[in-house]
Amino acid sequence: MPLEPDDYTAPLNRAAAHARQWLNTLPTRPIRPKATADDMLAAFGGRLADHPTDAAQVVDELALAADPGLMAIGSGRFFGWVMGGTLPAALGADWLVSAWDQNSGMRYATPAAAAIEEAAGAWILDLLGLPAGCDVGFATGGTMANFVGLAAGRGDVLTRAGWDLNSKGLIGAPPVHVLAGAEVHASVDLALRYLGLGLPTLVEADDEGRMRPEALAEALALVSGPVIVVLQAGNLHSGAFDPMRELITIAHDHGAWVHVDGAFGLWAAASPQWAEQLDGIELADSWATDAHKTLNVPYDCGVAIVARPEAARAALGVKTSYLIQDAGAPADPFELVPEMSRRGRGIPVWAALRQLGRSGTIAMVERLAATARALADGLDALPGVEVLNEVVFTQVSLAFGSDERTRAVTQALIADGAVWMSGSKWHGRDILRISVSNWSTDDDDIATAIDAVARALAAVPE
Ligand SMILES: *Cc1c(COP(=O)(O)O)cnc(C)c1O
Repeated sequence: MPLEPDDYTAPLNRAAAHARQWLNTLPTRPIRPKATADDMLAAFGGRLADHPTDAAQVVDELALAADPGLMAIGSGRFFGWVMGGTLPAALGADWLVSAWDQNSGMRYATPAAAAIEEAAGAWILDLLGLPAGCDVGFATGGTMANFVGLAAGRGDVLTRAGWDLNSKGLIGAPPVHVLAGAEVHASVDLALRYLGLGLPTLVEADDEGRMRPEALAEALALVSGPVIVVLQAGNLHSGAFDPMRELITIAHDHGAWVHVDGAFGLWAAASPQWAEQLDGIELADSWATDAHKTLNVPYDCGVAIVARPEAARAALGVKTSYLIQDAGAPADPFELVPEMSRRGRGIPVWAALRQLGRSGTIAMVERLAATARALADGLDALPGVEVLNEVVFTQVSLAFGSDERTRAVTQALIADGAVWMSGSKWHGRDILRISVSNWSTDDDDIATAIDAVARALAAVPE
């Protein structure tokens, strides 16, 4: 099939039209999907057709059939889990990433992609106040960014214990102790599982989920040999930050590698108003964050940052004859993440930061936190609402009396469709959790959200 000059024109025009249509409905459409995954499978499944279908028609079919099964995650009225929408420049850049189709692993083969990601990485370090010269890799998300930091740490602590992990493997190695806060995110457990390190030893946290320094010191006194300590910048339920300087100092005195899971909260370091809460975070050895959460780029994009030179490359790099590298050159992108072949997912990060600039990035982070505060205050004023956390960043946890009523109000709220917030459990209680992560959430959305919760409360008798 020879390529015709017009082959891409109609499908791309149709895709742009459908995308505009979708984005234009975000301010008004119900947040929840109308259809279930099984309904959607009925629309998309069945036997694969024998004959080809016109490309533009495929795009039309896809857009029309998917619509009832789409969640309006990009809406300013979406407060579920911790997600975030998409800044316009980031979305435009993401389209180009697909059109360019660069396999972004090697500097010499895809120089534009590599350079754009290097520039974006340097901007992130500068904005977050992390040491210039750290390795920055663009992984699929926070989970794999945690994996990268922990893989680098695992290799480093074993090397220091005299064990060559890459040649000898983990079996027979000195045990690696991993300590994490009692409210560690499940993705850290998962990353540790991938790394063969098992579950971490949990260190006591305070009421807001912050690791207690005395508890870390006590826990470290009980272990010897290679140690990794995992801290958290941004607790899912409270938004709280571990007291970084104190904890990192204690961990380093014990020779530990310190990794920080800052999937959404690390961005607080960009804001002069919030940076104090993360004082000392630059002393850690590795950090994980998401660009697809607080920075509002499209999925999938996590950022893995490693301070110690060579540690990420030692864990994730490969040497083969066909991956040509210049001696002494900066790391190739594939050496800093688990994948070899991948899209240029750091490119939308460059575009987002270019669109916002320094002041815009700071303003966005501060607005997300101010919105969470406004929602907490507005909801706290409704009868029967308890705000359970100190609202220190973008997260608000609520309860409405008994667990049963909290669950019922949550169900009524989601069915209503005006907003989406997530049910969860925290400290043994059913809760409703709000995450303010979308750049476009405005005062109208705040008012809509408070009204929606008031309606759900009215629908469920105490
Ligand atoms: C979202 C999140 C993760 C996992 O990130 P993914 O991008 O979903 O892989 C890890 N830690 C925290 C605190 C998170 O909020």
